[in-house]
Amino acid sequence: MFDLIVVGGGSGGVRAARIAAGYGAKVVLIERYRLGGTCVIRGCVPKKLMVYASRFAQEFEEAAGYGWNVGPVSFDWPTLKANRDREIARLEEIYRGLLERSGVEVVQGDARLIDPHTVVVGAEHYQARHILIATGSHPVTPPEISGREHILDSNDFFEMEQLPASILIQGAGYIAMELGCVLQKLGSQVQIVFRGDQVLRGFDHDVQQHVTREVRASGLELRPGLTVKAIEPQATAGFKVTLSDDSTVYVEKVLHALGREPSTKGLGLEELGVNLTPTGAVAVNDYSQTNIESIWAVGDVTNRVTLTPAAIREGHAFADHVFGGMDKPIRHGLIPTAVFTTPEIGTVGLTELQALQHHPQLDVYRTDFKPIKATLSGHTGRVMYKLLVDRSNDRVVGFHAVGGDASELAQLVGVAMQMGARKQDFDATLAIHPTAAEELVTLRTPTQRHNFP
Ligand code: NDP
Repeated sequence: MFDLIVVGGGSGGVRAARIAAGYGAKVVLIERYRLGGTCVIRGCVPKKLMVYASRFAQEFEEAAGYGWNVGPVSFDWPTLKANRDREIARLEEIYRGLLERSGVEVVQGDARLIDPHTVVVGAEHYQARHILIATGSHPVTPPEISGREHILDSNDFFEMEQLPASILIQGAGYIAMELGCVLQKLGSQVQIVFRGDQVLRGFDHDVQQHVTREVRASGLELRPGLTVKAIEPQATAGFKVTLSDDSTVYVEKVLHALGREPSTKGLGLEELGVNLTPTGAVAVNDYSQTNIESIWAVGDVTNRVTLTPAAIREGHAFADHVFGGMDKPIRHGLIPTAVFTTPEIGTVGLTELQALQHHPQLDVYRTDFKPIKATLSGHTGRVMYKLLVDRSNDRVVGFHAVGGDASELAQLVGVAMQMGARKQDFDATLAIHPTAAEELVTLRTPTQRHNFP
């Protein structure tokens, strides 16, 4: 008999298992694929390595203005893939080592719950006082169109053996934008088609517009108001893609990134009467507990905040609560977010539209400038920073950045905002010169003053 069975070895499950074991719990973790989950194996981490790879293209171009002659450059996808895969395998082993050193038993296989305390893997039965579902999410299946079987998703992206000469990506969310930028910088002809009129729905409008301008200027084609209607393989290679306006394009690959859905199928949850939300996620309370007392869930499978750090926090809080005797309801609070497009996006707090609903006396400080590095390199890209300030109490309620290291900035501005930073705190902070971030502490005059009654 175990104290805890964790189903799923991703960010949330591994953290919960380790912390629970640290409290002396007897834990078994069941994973069907590889330890590390989407983030480590086929998400954030390998993606970030690809982002780094892609940005050398611009560095080589910019080097000339600084006197470097880097000669003709070339890029080899198989080398990058092999090195990346080796690093991911190394990280997976680190995860395994961490679990084993914590005393967690790791089992490989498909788990199915047959009662509130029993999980079956093949012929084996595991019993525990508590069961934690941490199975994450997976890409949604493509819409029912002719040729849908040819559409790749983000999992397939990480398996590609060669850089495609051309690719059409459907969707304009996190994944489409990030992978689109990576492929374009590495040398693919990329077009992104999306049904809306703006990329990255839900982001601040200045972020959407700035990143659209920058990404287009770098050669990536963004095509709003379109969906994919049909895909037809061509005799030699590649596909003819028919779009919703009946135009056609010929590309080597087609990829979609239309969102992710919680991975609950085959776990036996519905048979047990575990409540699911209308979107198919496991319904949980503030303590990550389902309607069945012994069954808990954390991470993407609960579809609360579908980001790795949130899953880790939820897994940790679950273990502290159940095995450490702490009262730890989940409050994610401010959620700093980054999108690793090039240029990248960093954001914390409210968009201007959201802020106006809660803070009618809103001052907008927006700056758009050429970074100092571009003076000699000749690069035309510009940086955009935006601070939203509630004039009634001087609190900073939103921060948005597009440009180099925007993700790093958002992490630290997030700390300041978590502490309740006011605009006068930014003003009182001495600038570091010359940096791009100094612009944030020298924003003198609002670019817009909202004054709703
Ligand atoms: P997103 O929800 O970010 O974007 C989905 C995109 O698909 C949107 O453009 C959406 O359009 C479009 N779409 C959805 N359904 C349809 C449809 N039926 N027909 C046409 N278009 C459609 O999902 P992603 O797959 O890009 O990413 C999934 C999640 O992964 C993210 O939400 C995020 O939580 C996580 N992630 C986070 C990253 C990070 O933190 N940097 C990186 C990668 C992923 P519309 O806007 O019109 O709805």
